[in-house]
Amino acid sequence: MPKEITTLLTFFGGTGDLAKRKLYPSTYNLFKKGFLQEHFAIIGTARQELTTDEFRELVRTSIADFIEDQANAEEFISHFYYIQLDITDQAGYANMLSLNNELDAKYSLKGNRIFYMSVAPRFFGTVAKYLKSENLLTENGEFNRLMIEKPFGSSYDTAEALQNELSEAFDENQIYRIDHYLGKEMVQNIAAVRFGNPLFDAAWNKDYIENIQVTLSEVLGVEERAGYYDTAGALRDMIQNHTMQVIGWLAMEKPASFTDKEIRAAKNAAFNSLKIYNTPEEVAANFVRGQYGESADGSQKKYLDELDVPADSQNNTYVAGKLQFDMPRWEGVPFYIRSGKRLAAKSTRVDVVFKKGLNIFGEGVSLDNPVLSILIDPKGGIEFKINAKDITSSFATRTIDLDWQVSDEDKAVTPEPYERMIHDAMNGDGSNFADWNGVGTAWRFVDAIQAAWDAKKESFPNYVSGSMGPVAADELLAKDGNEWIFKG
Ligand code: NAD
Repeated sequence: MPKEITTLLTFFGGTGDLAKRKLYPSTYNLFKKGFLQEHFAIIGTARQELTTDEFRELVRTSIADFIEDQANAEEFISHFYYIQLDITDQAGYANMLSLNNELDAKYSLKGNRIFYMSVAPRFFGTVAKYLKSENLLTENGEFNRLMIEKPFGSSYDTAEALQNELSEAFDENQIYRIDHYLGKEMVQNIAAVRFGNPLFDAAWNKDYIENIQVTLSEVLGVEERAGYYDTAGALRDMIQNHTMQVIGWLAMEKPASFTDKEIRAAKNAAFNSLKIYNTPEEVAANFVRGQYGESADGSQKKYLDELDVPADSQNNTYVAGKLQFDMPRWEGVPFYIRSGKRLAAKSTRVDVVFKKGLNIFGEGVSLDNPVLSILIDPKGGIEFKINAKDITSSFATRTIDLDWQVSDEDKAVTPEPYERMIHDAMNGDGSNFADWNGVGTAWRFVDAIQAAWDAKKESFPNYVSGSMGPVAADELLAKDGNEWIFKG
């Protein structure tokens, strides 16, 4: 049995979709694995009137598919409590405080508290403010931590305003900003592959790497989310957060040690060197936007015909761009990123394109760029394309693929990102959470691009549903003599 973690966990938005689908099953797994044993309690809070029994029934239903032993599940459920609270009602927090203190005593929780905000983003600041002003944060506890859902702002200014509100109540090292991509097994594998193998560690720089590509492609269109998506677009929905956080692991310096403090410092060395494109010319030269049209066979409609999309929408459903880091490690090395809807294939992957070797083999032999691909979703895996000898009587080379895939057995025991993130936050490990410096930089970067786009209309649609995006995205790489490795 692992050492148990002593804590009170409070879920704001405790009757919501995320709590039911992810947060309760994840905490149940932590209980089954022994990270939560006796000294824990979980509070769900929301606006609805519910008795604790009714709430426990809601929890029972949400974990039903994962129950192997009913008695063990009932033991877990008995640690759940409910409190009705309108987040904006300051006076209501007094009830929350008495329940906190009661559970603290009942389960000997040592004043350790984690508050998880699984509510609409407009409430994040309010919760933090009242947790502090109504004395929910303990003086004697080993920790008081805040886990915060996405999105973190919708622009630099809104993110900064939220950050200012949070920092009135919590220090940066108490705030765990969730980006569930950072909880993914294969995203965490980037560090293992990069720093665990001197071969890659030593070559992770401009001397050996030609370019790095990150692709987050989706097959689905906007579905029923146009109300939100039309105000965000791929740039804010996928690039500002997930793509930039994956980039953090790829572009970072080597941390002095594998601790959250050093990892953040190493990532921030990169984020602080990111070139921001402040002029429309720079944006045009380095970024491409797209909006999907009909599929070639007409079976899929264009974005503008989707439910709730304004007929004149200029929203981007596709973004490709080139990032540049002004640091010695990456001088002259482009990081290409792209994300979009209604593309040919669903894939989240990283392709690290190494430089070609000097050809000592003579005329008639051609060498390719070795490519290390880290496949994140839907199938986890690692591929390494290298040059090797071809089977001919004269000397020739060909590219071969060294290929590893996550097995079904591995997959079955891989923790869900939410389980991992709650576990990390309970342990005080911020390695796989987004920090303010990175989030703020990503917003400044994205805001500048959005501003240039807002000032100039684009002729949409400009890519066919089921393709890999606009032609201009291929041209962006071709200008540098490069091409996308993943072609759908
Ligand atoms: P939801 O609408 O299903 O649930 C919202 C919860 O907030 C409910 O429990 C509701 O009772 C509570 N609530 C609303 N107004 C309240 C108030 N004034 N006072 C107290 N409680 C109030 O939302 P969700 O899908 O669970 O999402 C929660 C958060 O998680 C959001 O920030 C969302 O962006 C984020 N998120 C959700 C998902 C998902 O898959 N659902 C995925 C990623 C991130």
